[in-house]
Formats: sequence, C-alpha cells, structure tokens
Amino acid sequence: MPANTNISTNYTQEKMQNSEKRTRISVSKTPNTNFWQKDINLKDKSTMHLKATVKDFFSIKDDRDLIAFYDIYNNDANGLKGRKIFALGEGSNTVFVNPVIDAVILKMDLCGYNIIRSNEDNVWVCCKSGVLFRDFVWEMCENNYSGLENLSGIYGTVGAAPVQNIGAYGMEVKDTIDSVRYFDMNDGKFHTISNKDCNFGYRNSIFKYQDGSKIISDVTFKLNKHFSLNTSYSAVAKLFEGVDKTNITPTIVCEKIKQLRNSKLPDPNVLGNCGSFFKNPVISIEHYEKLHKIYSDIVAFDDKEGKKIGAGWLIEKCGFKGKKIGGISMYDKQSLVLVNHGAKSSKELIDYAQEVIQTVKLRFDITLVAEPHFLS
Ligand SMILES: Cc1cc2nc3c(=O)[nH]c(=O)nc-3n(C[C@H](O)[C@H](O)[C@H](O)COP(=O)(O)OP(=O)(O)OC[C@H]3O[C@@H](n4cnc5c(N)ncnc54)[C@H](O)[C@@H]3O)c2cc1C
Repeated sequence: MPANTNISTNYTQEKMQNSEKRTRISVSKTPNTNFWQKDINLKDKSTMHLKATVKDFFSIKDDRDLIAFYDIYNNDANGLKGRKIFALGEGSNTVFVNPVIDAVILKMDLCGYNIIRSNEDNVWVCCKSGVLFRDFVWEMCENNYSGLENLSGIYGTVGAAPVQNIGAYGMEVKDTIDSVRYFDMNDGKFHTISNKDCNFGYRNSIFKYQDGSKIISDVTFKLNKHFSLNTSYSAVAKLFEGVDKTNITPTIVCEKIKQLRNSKLPDPNVLGNCGSFFKNPVISIEHYEKLHKIYSDIVAFDDKEGKKIGAGWLIEKCGFKGKKIGGISMYDKQSLVLVNHGAKSSKELIDYAQEVIQTVKLRFDITLVAEPHFLS
C-alpha cells in the first residue's frame, strides 16, 4: 500500500533533511509491506519492557491503512471482529498485563506535519499521530513557535498526547490543541472535533476511557508566534532565576527542561518505566485538614475539587521508595515512578502496584489510581 505523501509540505521536508536520523516526522515513501503482522514480540514496544506477544499487529502508516483495517476487521473470515482494538503509540503509558495479548494492536506509524494556517500571532500546525511528541516539540521550538516548550522531552507520540492530556512543568497539552481528527471504527469514517468537545481534564479526555473505537490520526495545534516564558511551576522559575529573560527562546527552555527531566527520571532504555505510575489523588478539604494535623509535611496543591496530594509523597511515606520486590521497585530517586529491573512476568508488577495501593489506602484512606493503560 503506498505511503501517505500528502501531509508533509516542502517546507516540512526541507526542515527534516538534517534531522531524519533522530525523528520520525518525515514521511516515508516506501510501501507499507508490514501492514498485518502475526505473533509479534511486544517487549520493546512498551517502555516498561515486560515480556508479551500479540497475535495480530497492524502497522498504520496513513489514513488509507485505517480504512483498509476497517474492512479487514469487519470481514468475518478474518477472525478479528469483536476483539478489542488498541491503538499503540510508543507504549510509554501502556503495560501489557498478559503473556499473550488478545487485543488487536494498531501501531500508529503515521508521520508528517503541515502548517495549515498562520496569522500575525499564531500558527496552526496539523501533525500526524505517529510522530514522536518530543521531536515535534523540538521542531516547533526551533521555528520559534511557543506553547509546547515546557512539555519537552515527554515520551510518546503526538496521537497519544490528547488521550490523557499530557502535562508537565506548568503546561498541559490541551492549552495548545485546536482540534483532533480521528477514525471511528463504529462508522468507518474520519471525524474532527474541537478542543472543547475533547472534554480535557487532569490526565483525562474523551479518548482516555473509550473502547478503542476512536483512533486518532491527526492533532492540530495552535501555537504562539510571540514567546513568553511560563514559570508558573516553581522548578522552572528556579531554572531561570537571575537570567536575562530578553534572550530566552523556546529552544533554550526546551533544552533546559529536557536536562531537568533527565536528571530526575530514569531512561526507559536503561530501566523500564512509564513515567509517573500513579495519578496525584484529589481529596476533600476536610480529609486534607485531618491528615495535615498528623503530617505537617504533606505535599498538597489547591484544586477546584479540594486538595491534590502528591502521590510520590504518600508512596515514600509508606516506605516504597527504592523498595524492591522481585524485579519491581519504585524508583529510588523519584518514588512516583515504578521501574522494571527485569521482572519475570507482568504479575510481579501488578502485585507490587496492588501492595502500594493497599498500603496507602490503609494509612491515609486515599485510593491511588494508576496512570498507564493496562492491556490484556
Ligand atoms: C520517562 C517517562 C516520562 C514521562 N513523563 C510524562 C509527563 O511528564 N507527563 C505526562 O503526562 N506523561 C508522561 N509520561 C507518560 C507518557 O509519555 C504519555 O502518556 C504519552 O502521551 C504516551 O504516549 P504513547 O505514544 O507512548 O502512548 P501509548 O502508551 O502507546 O498509549 C497510551 C494510551 O493512548 C492510546 N493511544 C495511543 N495512540 C493513540 C491514537 N493514535 N489514537 C487513539 N488512542 C491512542 C492507547 O490506546 C493507550 O490507551 C512519561 C513516560 C515516560 C516513560
């Protein structure tokens, strides 16, 4: 099947020539010969690097592949109909929980981006879902388009970014998303929805808890041509303390934040992980006040529904920071990150996560909720 060539403008291709080695933004011209693959090893298709295989694995390189998949899936003779469909990006927020995954996996390999509109203040950039988000952020910063720079270095693909409204260092991706285009397996058509209709919330959107039928093909970002430094997060403010702000560019912010991240988070290629493993729980003010009387050092932030508690603090207080059981532990430098030192199976991970949840519940009466997607 011919690869998509209509998304990338000359501008994009020109820009890409120097960075093709490190990005997947450029559009491949080779035919998609690996469209439907059987019995694929998934160990390196997720940053947690747990052992698993899947029977049916589709590589989606352009819009036409999605339409072709729709026909194949709905043809009874292929034995796929009725099975769960799972769109997989880089697997940096996915945990494979069984040795053999029953779902049909669509690996989102769509590449390219295109500037679709521009005015004096803003630029609208439509990016295909398989592009690595960190490469896209870097490209936009290099062009002096701002709005994404504090999100630099986040793992994963552009298509997954709206799913849980990724956020870091005082920014959330929802603040730059104009619209999302997706393929709906219910009707076999593409739909475009506005930012408002995505119902973005903290690590949430309409795409987060769906049945796998909405497959994101493109995300359109509205970025700013005039840069202003976002120091709403204290660690970012500290990075630029005493620095002359007039010479700061999005690329400088991008680079500095990447360095900050690297100093705090384990490299998934060295130590399997999915970044923050638990969401920061939100509790009522009364509950917070009760805890604050006992634990004056409790880490908490104001939230419109009460107080958001630092899940890392709860986990550390319960003694899990660096505590290894089998091949799993919470990272010794950042207790919110669960790391795989070489677990024999996903069961070790599930058992460990359950023990953390139960211990935190017993001590603080707070139920932790895992952030990654568990695929069986
Ligand atoms: C070291 C590290 C640091 C991280 N730091 C952060 C952080 O600071 N902030 C943050 O928010 N996250 C962070 N994460 C989590 C992760 O990077 C994000 O959640 C990212 O968006 C996941 O992208 P992915 O392509 O790997 O998604 P996957 O893990 O492949 O998929 C995640 C979910 O999105 C769905 N999905 C993926 N692509 C599509 C698509 N095209 N259409 C529909 N659904 C799709 C999947 O079905 C699944 O439900 C971190 C992860 C790591 C490993």
